[in-house]
Amino acid sequence: MDQIRIGKFIAEMRKEKGLTQRQLADILLISDKTVSKWECGKGLPEVSLMLPLCETLGINVNELLSGEQLSAVEYQEKAEDNIMRLINEREENKKKMILSGVTVGVTIMATVTLFLVSGLTVLPNAARIALIVIGLLVMIGGLGVAAVLEWDAGGFVCPHCKEYFVPTMKAYLMGAHTITRRHLKCPACGKKSYCIRSLGKK
Ligand SMILES: [Zn+2]
Repeated sequence: MDQIRIGKFIAEMRKEKGLTQRQLADILLISDKTVSKWECGKGLPEVSLMLPLCETLGINVNELLSGEQLSAVEYQEKAEDNIMRLINEREENKKKMILSGVTVGVTIMATVTLFLVSGLTVLPNAARIALIVIGLLVMIGGLGVAAVLEWDAGGFVCPHCKEYFVPTMKAYLMGAHTITRRHLKCPACGKKSYCIRSLGKK
């Protein structure tokens, strides 16, 4: 997706409707910073905001993603292309999440096996300690790889302003979390809350 082109198009359509960034933001129940970010090409609207945005601007999603108004013929040509690109990105992110889960599983099994072997078999102390150290290294390495994969698989949506953002690696790793939520600070409204994982557009 050409974010800069899409951003310019959003700005153009907004002005055509006689709306300020603030007014558009109020209609969509989001912050004006978010609108400004889209228009600067620094981010795309979260999927759940695309329909209300298009409705407000009097365009369709296909035009939004193409960054231009389309004739009927162009519309057909661009539609599949845009849909496939959105689906591919979400699929890729889903794969990363699954791979991350598998990595965690394999890591835990390998670590537990190493610890069991060191604890249950008759071994010299040095070998026992070596196994425990290897087990710890496998665990740290495996969980590290899993965390990077998961961090890379899309971003989060702020429950207050619906801003979609990708946290920094540090904020991501430090944030308390459940399976689908993570405690993060929203860059748009500044509120700290449990943000919802989204496989949507980066
Ligand atoms: Zn927010």
